[in-house]
Amino acid sequence: MNKKTVQDIDWSGKRALVRCDFNVPLDESQRITDDRRITEALPTIRYLVDHGAVVVLCSHLGRPKGAVSDKLRLTPVAERLGKLLGKSVHKLDDSIGPDVEAAVRGAKPGDVLLLENLRFYAQEEKNDPAHAEALARLGDVYVNDAFGAAHRAHASTAGVAAHLPAVAGFLMQKELDFLGAALENPERPFVAILGGAKISDKIGVVENLLAKADSLLIGGGMANTFFQAQGLEVGDSLVEADAVDTAKQILGRAGDKLVLPIDAVVADRFAADAEHKVVDVDQVQPGWRILDIGPNTVDLYEDRIAKAKTVVWNGPMGVFEMDPFAEGTFGVARAVARSSATSIIGGGDSAAAVEKAGLADDITHISTGGGASLEFLEGKELPGVAALDDKE
Ligand code: ADP
Ligand code: MG
Repeated sequence: MNKKTVQDIDWSGKRALVRCDFNVPLDESQRITDDRRITEALPTIRYLVDHGAVVVLCSHLGRPKGAVSDKLRLTPVAERLGKLLGKSVHKLDDSIGPDVEAAVRGAKPGDVLLLENLRFYAQEEKNDPAHAEALARLGDVYVNDAFGAAHRAHASTAGVAAHLPAVAGFLMQKELDFLGAALENPERPFVAILGGAKISDKIGVVENLLAKADSLLIGGGMANTFFQAQGLEVGDSLVEADAVDTAKQILGRAGDKLVLPIDAVVADRFAADAEHKVVDVDQVQPGWRILDIGPNTVDLYEDRIAKAKTVVWNGPMGVFEMDPFAEGTFGVARAVARSSATSIIGGGDSAAAVEKAGLADDITHISTGGGASLEFLEGKELPGVAALDDKE
């Protein structure tokens, strides 16, 4: 990564304005159900505390759409963060303004403050210049550790960097190093696995990975559109009519790099208690729908994954939320976990599937950014990364 990091700054007595991605899942009583995004931010926060900075943290949470929402306050995050850090976190009730500035002025080196949900202001998502300037008044140096928000050009992810020296945190650095190495300099064979609901979300990723990977294993709903493009019967499967032509073009160009499922789990309804069976992909009958890859496909993919030195996976192989259609995703997850390859998982649902399978610890890197990792895999420059200062 050619961006400056927190290690390039002399922090003593400086205020660090740190953009984190504390957009954690909450249950109905605002309890955090998964704190991985908080634990992943700890190395940067600890480093800044240990190096004598005043640490001013900020994040969005959910979609308050520019209005204050008591259900989306960052109070539960401050509490959990305080426990994990073993240090009190001073939670503020606003993210800009004179009261916040006064609290920051009153803080001592090593203190940790957390601003209120950034998206209580509509100006945040609009990347309003005056709003970015108001945020910039809270720091001497800006640190972006919010990889999960780096594909957005918002005031706290991009605009603020125009006013302050801007560097990457350790999580940002780790994400960019893993994803960047896979795309730029992968150990080969490099096997990419792509699934998920819709091909239209991921055409850019298919195109970019076809150019970089040695093989591309396809599963999930997006395989159906390829089947349709091949003229196969897909029954009532999810197919995107608009994307069939693109799928045809990709098939024409990809040669044997692109690997499609050979069998599938089909069901008579989209339901966990639907009647279901395994069929070869050319045996799908009208009235049935493909909801998972079949066992022969898992074997085929497992074989490719076992030989890989780099694996990038985005998108589940089937409707893993329902038990009868989870085995394809779990089978591929086990294969990835067993392989000695550097394994990288991007995508919110893919990460959830690997967690559900209990295999997260056997994966080299699970990205904290769903949308951001997808855009990165498409080969796009992320605005939150572009805004950071280059290394000299
Ligand atoms: P990610 O978040 O990992 O990028 P996506 O959001 O693209 O993944 O897709 C995940 C969704 O795709 C899951 O909710 C899953 O149920 C759905 N899905 C996977 N296979 C199929 C299929 N054959 N038919 C319908 N939906 C599917
Ligand atoms: Mg998703």
